[in-house]
Amino acid sequence: MVYLDNNATTPLDPAVVEKMTQVMSEYFGNPSSLYPIGRKAKDLINEARARVAAAVGASKASIYFTGSGTEADNQAILGVMDALPDKKEFVTSSIEHPAVAETAAYLERRGFKVTYVPVDSTGTVDLDALRSAVTPQTALVSVMHANNEIGTIQPIADVVRIAREQGALIHTDAVQSFGKIPFRADDLGVDLLTISSHKIYGPKGVGALYVRKGTPLRPFIHGGHQERGLRAGTENTIGIVGFGEAARILPLHFEADSLRLHRLADRLKSGLEAAVPKIHFNGHPHNRIPTTLSYAFLGLESEAILLSLATKGISVSTGSACSEDSEEVSHVLQAIGLRPEFARSTVRMSLGRFNTDADVDEVLRVLPEVVASLRKISAWNPDEI
Ligand code: PLP
Repeated sequence: MVYLDNNATTPLDPAVVEKMTQVMSEYFGNPSSLYPIGRKAKDLINEARARVAAAVGASKASIYFTGSGTEADNQAILGVMDALPDKKEFVTSSIEHPAVAETAAYLERRGFKVTYVPVDSTGTVDLDALRSAVTPQTALVSVMHANNEIGTIQPIADVVRIAREQGALIHTDAVQSFGKIPFRADDLGVDLLTISSHKIYGPKGVGALYVRKGTPLRPFIHGGHQERGLRAGTENTIGIVGFGEAARILPLHFEADSLRLHRLADRLKSGLEAAVPKIHFNGHPHNRIPTTLSYAFLGLESEAILLSLATKGISVSTGSACSEDSEEVSHVLQAIGLRPEFARSTVRMSLGRFNTDADVDEVLRVLPEVVASLRKISAWNPDEI
């Protein structure tokens, strides 16, 4: 099997499996309990917190575990809007993951003013439009760090400067950048930052929210006092420990993984561009996550390519996993101004730690054949495009 959908999720690293298995069988205590088996679980969670904090460049106290990246995004946005009732405006970009975009839509239904700042054809947020959108009434600006569908990296330092000028707080969804590009949460200048375990070879169902000290934030899940009162609910000890282990080994792999994966992705990119006529690269030419490759294969439906590749053991995506089962054209591809027929022919390939040269060879052998044979049976007329 060739797995090229690492932006959707990553396989567990064997070191993570080993650590989780140990905790699963030995440490079942409730972390809130005061006897030794409970305290041990609490210690494991705090050790994981220190590891996640170190990997994201933040203090341990600024990391709160959540049930997913989606939950951390919801907590950041709803938590700030709730904590600042006098400010009724929220500003975000037009290419956010549904975890942010749908939370923005929910705020609109609740009567808040929401502004969606456009992006250019590379997927980079329009800073002039952002400047006009942020007002003294803006409680929070949320702009993602790197896009999940096309990999474009946003100018977060500029976003922070513009938001601060108007006294707004800043959140960034760093789910796709964490582990792929180096950054320190404390240095980005944001107030809140979201990460997720299953994009860094940890388990699914665990995320974390970085909260800069002093940021006004109300909990949106109510119950017990876990996570210092921000996130009620008995902690997912096994998942959190797995996240901690994935974060611990991240820096050990980072340099070698980056060098190797950037080389593999470049080889895949240039190989495809040489072997497949009439393809269009989506995203920024260089200011992007190098391991994310999004291409429109003109004249074809992306599902047809995806399914043909699947029968040959190659897993890719038609865009973001979250919109996979919807008929709609991706809002990200729409936002960068891609024509609908280009958007409908777009396939995303994303590489990760366990990809090899052999995987790239296999895709370069199979994909040009798949595209050529599908084009033969499609009503495709290259001159019309
Ligand atoms: N934000 C981005 C940019 C993502 O790519 C994802 C997952 O695909 C999420 C948020 C949601 O994270 P989770 O799957 O942990 O809910």
